[in-house]
Amino acid sequence: MTETKNDSTLEASIPTASLESILCTEELQRRPSRPPDYEKENRALAKLLSAVADSPRTIFQTLAETIRDITQCDSAGLSLLTRDGKTPHVDGQRFYWPAICGMWNPHVGGGTPRNFGPCGDVLDQNRTLLFTHFERRYPYLMPVSPAAEECLLVPFYVDGKAVGTIWGIMHSDLRKFDGEDDRVMASLGKFASSAYQAWMHIEDLRIQVAEREKAEAEVRQLASGLEAKVRRLVEANVVGVVMWNLEGAITGANEAFLHMVQYDQGDLASGRVRWTDLTPPEWRECDYWAIAQLKKTGIFQPYEKEFFRKDGSRVPVLLGGALFEGNGNDGVAFVLDLRQQKRAREELRRSEAFLAEAQRLTHIGSYSWRVATDEIKWSEQLYRIYEFEIGVPVTPELIRTRVHPEDVTLIEKMVEQARNGRDDFEWQYRLLMPDHSIKYLHAVAHATRDQDGQLEYIAAVQDVTARRLSEEAFDKARSELAHVTRMMSLGTLAAAIAHEINQPLSGIVTNASTCQRMLTATPPNINGALETARRTIRDANRASEVIVRLRALFNRKETATESVDLNEATREVVALSLSGLQRNGVVVRAELADNLPCVTGDRIQLQQVVLNLLRNGADAMSRVDDRPRHLVIITDRDEGDRVRVSVKDVGVGFEPQAADRLFEGFYTTKDDGMGIGLSVSKSIIESHHGRLWAEQNDGPGATFSFSIPCRREQGLAA
Ligand code: ADP
Repeated sequence: MTETKNDSTLEASIPTASLESILCTEELQRRPSRPPDYEKENRALAKLLSAVADSPRTIFQTLAETIRDITQCDSAGLSLLTRDGKTPHVDGQRFYWPAICGMWNPHVGGGTPRNFGPCGDVLDQNRTLLFTHFERRYPYLMPVSPAAEECLLVPFYVDGKAVGTIWGIMHSDLRKFDGEDDRVMASLGKFASSAYQAWMHIEDLRIQVAEREKAEAEVRQLASGLEAKVRRLVEANVVGVVMWNLEGAITGANEAFLHMVQYDQGDLASGRVRWTDLTPPEWRECDYWAIAQLKKTGIFQPYEKEFFRKDGSRVPVLLGGALFEGNGNDGVAFVLDLRQQKRAREELRRSEAFLAEAQRLTHIGSYSWRVATDEIKWSEQLYRIYEFEIGVPVTPELIRTRVHPEDVTLIEKMVEQARNGRDDFEWQYRLLMPDHSIKYLHAVAHATRDQDGQLEYIAAVQDVTARRLSEEAFDKARSELAHVTRMMSLGTLAAAIAHEINQPLSGIVTNASTCQRMLTATPPNINGALETARRTIRDANRASEVIVRLRALFNRKETATESVDLNEATREVVALSLSGLQRNGVVVRAELADNLPCVTGDRIQLQQVVLNLLRNGADAMSRVDDRPRHLVIITDRDEGDRVRVSVKDVGVGFEPQAADRLFEGFYTTKDDGMGIGLSVSKSIIESHHGRLWAEQNDGPGATFSFSIPCRREQGLAA
């Protein structure tokens, strides 16, 4: 075959003869010419015409045979440009040979390149050419046998454009083409043009038919594929599939459906299973809707309903379906068992309710905020905290409407930081409610990424108003306690005053006695002495009355004697004073002994002592700046069935020689001190039959301790 992949290699590798050297077209007219045989020619043309009408598919072959018959050549055929362009195919890249008769017949289907070959030259020159031994110029034709002695090539046209050639070949020099051949071929060329167009129409039709057939085949295949898929779906029993008619019958169903409603194929075959019977009365309305939809559109959109099962229980389902095409009464539906979804939904609802309840109980609301889209979602409790109707759409503005004017800047700052991608936040702010009350909120936000990798904050917002109020109440209690302490201090003061006053009192009494002795002397100054004595005694009585009233005012007549758990009492004091201590940078650690026995005494008084020791410790530490302020409060059992409480600090400590004076009234080393705390504490502890003492630590600071007996037989000292 000539049309081989090696064409280009051959074209390039072998030197070729010039076009002129292989053309002898002009010779045609010079050669002696045979006479025209019009009769034969007419017969041939008539035959060709009927061939166009009867068997257009073979028209090229008929044409080739006609050329050979009329010109008496050895081989004849057609070259057409390949149809890779649009009609007419003037842009084809190659010529191919659709029909050849004679010696070259085995080469049907072969061809030559468009840009380098005899046909190409004919098209370029746009005229009939006679070649002799064209293989000398076109080496790829060399292997084509038998070789061509002469080849007469005639172009033909469609719409004025050359699209192909007809040709005849002499393989020997026994006969040569002449002027008569030239004339005949020219008229056959015209015919070739019509034949080509007829063929092209047919070809186009063929292509159209083929395309349509292909499309139909695809649809068929798709349909059969779809059918297979639907069958697979039905048989897989992943969803229930049921066939039914509008009268209420179920005409077929897969196992999945039967399983859902607890029937079997036998029940189905008996005709006992009807969808109308399977439907509980309250769901019939939905079915009527579906049927109305079916009658209108041929399908019904999925909807939820329930079916009775054989045992009378119900199964929730999702149902959707369609009528069969072309049949107004029968249809098919898929049925999805919703029990699991319902359960999951119920679980979700329960856990949401649980969460909401937990939020309600703890006064904690929550929200999520997608930064990029400003999408905000609130929990119900947050709506309650803000006192908005649940369901009011949340926007950043709405949040801000309730924020206390003084806290708006803070919130804006937080939002700004969040947009810049800060990780975690914790902040306090206030809401100013419509009734002018204030709510204190404590918020904690945590940054996460949602499924799309977008920044999202999840925040918990706690209403700490109640806590805040109780803190205020605590503060009040604390100041009351301080007041009581002061009162106790005044008690000691009174005692000191009493002590001081008792001295002159006894002097007065002594003077009075002297006065009496004067009376008994000779001569007695009775009137003067009596008057003096009376006044002295009256003043003395008045002074002692004052003292008694003072004592009565500041000393409790009775000290409570309750059972006191010193661990618990200590814990309360620590809790009460914690925020104050923390403000001063003090870290308190409590080391409370397990199973500490109770003591009998006055809980409030003992707590005053502990409070006093804590304050003193903190004060002592505030006077040094070079170390962390650690305060340890320890409870444990002391020997002799006693309980000991110690407060250990790392403060300034005290000089050994001052150790005894610390507990004296009015002894203080502080600018603003009164020097009463320790002396009051000492008297309280002693009234509990206990002991209060101070020790210098091995390291920095001091430890103040008291120890009191667990049980006491006799009452407390007044
Ligand atoms: P005040 O604290 O008003 O001075 P206190 O009776 O409580 O009265 O204390 C008397 C003095 O004892 C204090 O001024 C201080 O010098 C000394 N003192 C008390 N507690 C400590 C302590 N933890 N460390 C060192 N010195 C202390």
